[in-house]
Amino acid sequence: MRQPRQSAATSTEGERLTPFEAVNFQFDRAADLLGLSEAMRVALKTPYREVMVEIPVICERGDLRTFRGYRVQHNLARGPMKGGLRYHPDMDLDEARALASLMTWKTAVVDLPYGGAKGGIACDPHAPEMTRRDLENITRTFVDRLQVFIGPNQDIPAPDVNTNAQVMAWIVDEYSKFHGFTPGVVTGKPIALGGSEGRESATGRGVAVVTAHAAKDAGLELDGATVAIQGFGNVGSWSARFLADMGARVVAVSDVEGAAYAPKGLDVVAAGDAARASGSVVATPGVEPIGNDDLLALDVDVLVPAALGHVIHAGNAGAVRARLIVEGANAPVTPAADEILAERGVTVVPDILANAGGVTVSYFEWVQNLQQFRWDADRVDEELLATLERAYRTVREVAEAKDVSLRTAAFVLAIRRVAAATELRGFQIGPSRG
Ligand code: NAD
Repeated sequence: MRQPRQSAATSTEGERLTPFEAVNFQFDRAADLLGLSEAMRVALKTPYREVMVEIPVICERGDLRTFRGYRVQHNLARGPMKGGLRYHPDMDLDEARALASLMTWKTAVVDLPYGGAKGGIACDPHAPEMTRRDLENITRTFVDRLQVFIGPNQDIPAPDVNTNAQVMAWIVDEYSKFHGFTPGVVTGKPIALGGSEGRESATGRGVAVVTAHAAKDAGLELDGATVAIQGFGNVGSWSARFLADMGARVVAVSDVEGAAYAPKGLDVVAAGDAARASGSVVATPGVEPIGNDDLLALDVDVLVPAALGHVIHAGNAGAVRARLIVEGANAPVTPAADEILAERGVTVVPDILANAGGVTVSYFEWVQNLQQFRWDADRVDEELLATLERAYRTVREVAEAKDVSLRTAAFVLAIRRVAAATELRGFQIGPSRG
């Protein structure tokens, strides 16, 4: 068994970077391999538009509060911009830029006709004083401020951390007051309002599919392999379900309250029930509670970080014992940690490939909205599988041809595609309003 390196303070240049700088660090590594000109690098790294709004809301308790909302539209060379909305106290402009740029590279890796965007609101939906009505009012006011900048041919938001199908439904309703009934303005909607079969589970399904391919290429039998998953929201819980269905032994799951560990494997359905009933997976029957940091260092075959960014960094990458890390979350591994893990022979399947199942079925949902036609669940799953398999194979081929990591290969592939579209359009890429 491989011995963990002690959490060395191996600090590289990458560790001092902001989230946006960290993405661009990865971009530059691939751009160097491609010999991309300085002018093209600037054109591809710079966000197209950044919107920042104040959201004043009279809360149910009667007090006036203001929240800050963001939407960074990073790139539209390949089509309308696409990316989630995150409601989280740590949301800020740099985080939005980082996540928006990742969306540009992600949609290009899976070859969807989209660019990238991301946004959200700096707020805590779980704060005791935050009511459902407050959340609805905050969302609606955000849409009032943002509605000129979004739309089915311009920028199409979706759920991310702490947002869900209900939030998307409020956005459809508010946007439609200005523009007429427009379900295609967001994806991840309830099925009753133009959502797609398979969208809710799509990111987790994609994580599981990509894990199966990566495990096979790493000579790891997924049937019986041990898996630890950080985060038990949309991505984490569905990843757990699908990986368990494929025969993997999910031994640990976690959420913001802590982690639940069962060395012989835990019942992921029971973990979901416990989370719904008590608010945390820690209440799952028959598990040992452990700390969230302990989960990252468990002796497992596969680690799926599926919560927030930068959780695996120079300070703890040496303690990771998994052979394979599959990035369910966006940017969970810092550039410095990436180097440490590579040195130790740990394969990292990058976010822009591993969690692309969500945006892929979002694309299917948008296509169905534009066609005013519904696909059944089998068709969605079939097309999702085909898209991810193609993307995984292509990334793997680039990685082998250039002898680089899967992350650098994914960036190479994505940058090539976005640069080609930019050249063809002549650099004067204007608004994508239909
Ligand atoms: P979510 O809000 O549904 O769930 C987030 C989960 O993370 C919750 O279980 C929460 O308790 C947990 N969490 C938060 N802070 C934590 C911490 N410090 N330690 C451990 N757990 C913590 O969000 P989600 O939609 O599942 O998104 C999770 C990640 O996946 C994000 O990075 C997001 O950007 C990314 N992602 C989401 C989608 C999607 O379709 N929802 C698609 C691609 C990528």
